[in-house]
Amino acid sequence: MKFIDIKNCYKVYKNGVTAIADLTLSIDKGEFVFVTGASGCGKSTFVKLLYREEKPTKGQVWVGGINVAKLYNSRVYKLRRKLGIVFQDFKLLPKLTVYENVSFGLENTGMKQKEIKPLVLKALERVGLKEKIRSFPNQLSGGEQQRVCIARAIVNDPKVLICDEPTGNLDPKTSKEIMKVIANINKEMGTTVITVTHDKEIVNSLKKRVITLDNGVLANDTMKGKYTADESN
Ligand code: ADP
Repeated sequence: MKFIDIKNCYKVYKNGVTAIADLTLSIDKGEFVFVTGASGCGKSTFVKLLYREEKPTKGQVWVGGINVAKLYNSRVYKLRRKLGIVFQDFKLLPKLTVYENVSFGLENTGMKQKEIKPLVLKALERVGLKEKIRSFPNQLSGGEQQRVCIARAIVNDPKVLICDEPTGNLDPKTSKEIMKVIANINKEMGTTVITVTHDKEIVNSLKKRVITLDNGVLANDTMKGKYTADESN
């Protein structure tokens, strides 16, 4: 079995929409994968199945040896501990500093401050934000806020980093910088990275594996790929 293994997976929402249809694919440990496709083609649903925000209607989803499709709610935390997740809208806590936003999750695991501090500083260093640890989110640019989110997602050294449209709210130059940070995490930490995007330029410049969805169906899966989604949609 591969590190991430999806077999004959379907997701039909309660309103009858089939967001994912008969999807079979696997992702190796340490891979960097883009997930692309037109708006509404099932990209977010795909990653939600991986972090168990949604359950498949049919089929199998395995992540790092965990049978995600069969995972009880009470065990979801075991899966989430293996994952870091970055969203388009930063979801930072406005009343906490940069440092506190990154340390927050670790404090909830019962770790001691003495153990937490070096991890937080290391994560902030990795995203190039060590000088801003005392700033509040509203004192940061969009790109800086996204860096904080990335630091928060990698602070516990997750096996998988899932990024759902991480550059969706950023200008092209900042988007490139953020993708560089994410690519470096994959390279230096060996983290498996799955990035949802419809940014053609980013996909084409990084030359990584590209999984393209079309109406919930796997339309293309290419190594060192190019953006192939139909732009007329
Ligand atoms: P993408 O991320 O590619 O834009 P989504 O995975 O968000 O696509 O959506 C795929 C399809 O599923 C769309 O038709 C969308 O309207 C539908 N959908 C997404 N989430 C839900 C939901 N919670 N309930 C019903 N339909 C949904």
